[in-house]
Formats: sequence, C-alpha cells, structure tokens
Amino acid sequence: MKNDDVTRKYREFLFPSVITYYEEPLPVVSGRGLVVRDAEGREYLDFFGGILTVSVGHCDEAITARVAEQLRTLQHASTLYPTIPAAELAERLASITPGSLTKSFFTNSGTEANETAILTAQHFTGATDVIALRHSYSGRSTLAMGLTGQGAWKIGRVAVPGIHHAHAPYCYRCPFRLEYPSCDLACARDIEELIRTETGGKVAAMLAEPVLGVGGFVVPPREYFQVAAAIVRAHGGLFIADEVQTGWGRTGGRWFGIEHFDVVPDIMTSAKGMANGIPIGWTVTTPEIAAGIQGLTISTFGGNPVSCTAALATIYRIGGDGLIENADRVGALLRGSIEEMKKDFPVIGDVRGMGLMVGVELVEDRGSKAPAPKAVARVIEETREEGLLVGKGGLYGNVIRFSPPMSVTKDEAEQALKILRAAFARL
Ligand code: PMP
Repeated sequence: MKNDDVTRKYREFLFPSVITYYEEPLPVVSGRGLVVRDAEGREYLDFFGGILTVSVGHCDEAITARVAEQLRTLQHASTLYPTIPAAELAERLASITPGSLTKSFFTNSGTEANETAILTAQHFTGATDVIALRHSYSGRSTLAMGLTGQGAWKIGRVAVPGIHHAHAPYCYRCPFRLEYPSCDLACARDIEELIRTETGGKVAAMLAEPVLGVGGFVVPPREYFQVAAAIVRAHGGLFIADEVQTGWGRTGGRWFGIEHFDVVPDIMTSAKGMANGIPIGWTVTTPEIAAGIQGLTISTFGGNPVSCTAALATIYRIGGDGLIENADRVGALLRGSIEEMKKDFPVIGDVRGMGLMVGVELVEDRGSKAPAPKAVARVIEETREEGLLVGKGGLYGNVIRFSPPMSVTKDEAEQALKILRAAFARL
C-alpha cells in the first residue's frame, strides 16, 4: 500500500478522517529507535515521539521481547482477577512516586486517568467544584473537555458545571502583564479570588499539568504550584498533577514533572509515555484518599497484563539506562542551540521547556508578540520535507514542540537542529 492508499481509506472509513497536521497526511508504517518510515520507505527522525508517548524509541527490542512473552503467557484476565504484572507494576510505581502516593488504579488512557482522579477527589472531599488551567489539555471525554482550557479541543457539548479555569502561569504572555518575580505570582494568588467568586468556598480539587503540554510546553515559575496548591488545600481541595506528558523522566532529572516544583500532589495521573506506546492510563493517590472510593468500580482492560508488562519494561529501560539524565543533557543542547538561533531569526519569540519538552514560540514581531501560526505550519512542512518530524502546539498554534524519545543521541539532536536551522533560513 502506498501513502495515498492509506490516506484514501482513512478519508472513506474513519471519522473525523485525518487530522490535518500536514498539508498532505503522513502515513507511517514502521519504526525503530528515533526513525519512522512512511508507506513508500522514506525515513524521518521522530522528534515528537508519537506525541511524547514513545519514551525509549520505536519498537524497542527489550520491551517488545517482554511484551511478546506476556502475550504468550496471559493476555487478559479482567479486573476480576489479580495478575502478576499489575501487582509488580503497582509496587514498582509506589517506589518511584513522590510522598505517599502508593495506591494505583489502572485504566487505558490519559482521559480515563483524569476522570478517575476527579471522581476520587470528589468522593474524598464531598465537594464537586474543580479548578483547571487555561491553555490546558485534559482529554476527550465530556468531563475532560470541560477541564481543557483550549477552545480548539472542545468539540460538542462541553459545558460541564463546576469547572473553573484559572489564569495560566504563562510568563511569556502574562495574563496580568507583569514580570516574574516582581509579579509575586499574581496568577497563582488569583485562584483565591476565583474560588471566592465562582464557588461556595469549597472545592474538590485543582488539576494541572506541571508543564502545559498541548498548550505549548509552558513552564510555570518554580513557586507557582506551592502557592496554588496551598490555596486549593485551604479550601478543602486536593491537588492533582496531570503527568500525562511530563511523567517518566521526560522533564529531566526526576521521574515526574511536579517534583521540580517542591510540591507533593494528593493525586497524580499519567498515560502516554508510561508503556512506550502500549495503551495504559494510571491514577495514583495516598492510601487515605484511595479509601474514599468504596463499592464496585471496574475497568475491563485497565491493568491488563500486557500493558502492565510494557510499563514495567519501559520504566526498567528508563531507570536502568540513564535516560532521565539523557533527557536533561540532550534537552539542554536543544534549548541552548535554538536559543542561539534567536539571534538570526526574529520570528523566534520564546524558547522554553524542561528536559525533553522543548517549545519554540513563533511571533510576527518580538514587540507585539503577535502569534505566527503560519510560520509554524511552514517550518513543519519544511522539516518534514527534509526528514524531521516535530510537533505543533499552543492556543494560537504558534509553538513548535520537540519531544523526541528519551533515548535520543547528541548526534541525532544535531542532525535535527541542522534541519531546523535550514527551515528557519528558508522562511
Ligand atoms: N492530559 C494531558 C496533559 C494530555 O496531554 C493528554 C493527551 N494529549 C491527555 C490528558 C489525554 O490523554 P489520552 O489522549 O490518552 O486520553
């Protein structure tokens, strides 16, 4: 099958057909390490990592071998029966999570993980109101789209009562037009006002991504979550860290993004990179909070032995092969080199990120900071043409995102930077 044949079938039999990321869709048929191939054999360096999901490279030998063995041993049993992979994974997770986050609930996606977290917080607190962030992305169920703070991702009926969006800790476009640190974290302190004006004074939770992912790799100031979590807790609520993009060492130096901010969440969620591309969703909390969920609750595929085995093998690879440190090293190289490019290309407004989440925000001019989504679209086409896949993001579609598998080498990063520089030069 050729590229066109795959796309034609998509257009005829899937909805909403193909997501128009590129002018022409790019069907991929195989992958190894950092490289994916299209249906006609063209190779691309994958610097988006399947949207931050392929943590340690495509079709990793070690993970594939463990998954294949599990498929021959026990593929599915359902939540009704304990299995060895789920037990071992939950125990391993408890050893790497911060604080006393030791009780896991497994599902199949980030959306379900966030649904589970909100349900758990509402049961525990007896409150229903939830604080979410503008510019956030939480998933595609009705509740998750309600939590999401970006219009483009809210399709259908998403007016979920009881969700209140706080201003994003987005320093490059500060909602209060202030500067850090003299701003005294006005965005975090405003949550107090939000709770007082929009709720009866009691909230179930605040759910936030440590680094806004789909929002364009926006990194909040260091003290942001301490202030925000303290306000939410003072109003009876729990602090939930959505680690769907930031988990598994992606931010460098730590297993989880929130660990950079000196706050221990009451609940954490993750999915994406947890099992290197095998579907899994995860919600973890303390024994005390977990005890609030009583009665029957089930997820047919959640915690299935194949996904749990893949997650165990992924965590083993990341921890054993120093990939968290590598995320730090190569992330710094990417950020530093793109920061250098700023001198030559005024279209680059902001370079930011943590570890291997590197965001480059493009603007019409640095004074007005008018977003330049068309420039991003062109860079993405140009880099694709030269064999490099990168991501796009941000509320205005004007952020280029780099999030390669954490096994990326310095050489591969330099190759990607060369292609990027050439694309900027052709703009
Ligand atoms: N939370 C965050 C931060 C995400 O980036 C995503 C997916 N982009 C989700 C939740 C939803 O995950 P899923 O698509 O697996 O349901």
